[in-house]
Amino acid sequence: MKKHLHIGILALQGDFAEHAQKLRDLGCEPVEIRRANQLESLDGLIIPGGESTTNAKLEAAASSFSSSATPEIPIFDAIKKKAQNGMPVWGTCMGSILLAKEIEGSAQGRIGLMDISVRRNAFGPQRASAEIPLEIPALGDKPFPGIFIRAPLFIKAGKKVEVLCTIDEGFVMAREGNLLATAFHPEITSDDRVHRLFLNMIGSGK
Ligand code: GLN
Repeated sequence: MKKHLHIGILALQGDFAEHAQKLRDLGCEPVEIRRANQLESLDGLIIPGGESTTNAKLEAAASSFSSSATPEIPIFDAIKKKAQNGMPVWGTCMGSILLAKEIEGSAQGRIGLMDISVRRNAFGPQRASAEIPLEIPALGDKPFPGIFIRAPLFIKAGKKVEVLCTIDEGFVMAREGNLLATAFHPEITSDDRVHRLFLNMIGSGK
């Protein structure tokens, strides 16, 4: 793996600090990203958990404030372009919603890159937040502690999408080339296997 990876974490709103700590524990120096012009030097980007509608509103508002002397493209568009040029992007929970091309029954703002359909807040009130041991063959035999907080469920996947973890109701982890989505929150567990998987995706340049 190449050294000194520049990994950004979208930091408009949400649990970006937890991802940053995880990356530091793995020897990386994360960068908090709030502006499109910060994306240029990045090798990879994490979009954290949070509230997808709030993030969409914040990014729309930020774009409208950008000065006309130095117009800046909206950050969702800039992320989309970088990802289409190969930059690995991983979305956790809200991040997976922003990455999805389809959000069931909603026209809310999104980056819209990954060929999956998501159902927001899919787990019902009694399972709004839960820890579920997940079987994820790509991470080895040991179950992964899946922490779900008002999480989405992934309900449809295009042909190029590799489903990495299935539960009874649908699936909760998937990869499509340089894009990774988890409906759960690996950043608030002591297990670093998904962060390592993402670092490998960056290191291998896939
Ligand atoms: N419920 C949030 C949404 O729909 C996602 C929750 C999370 O990221 N933990 O945007």
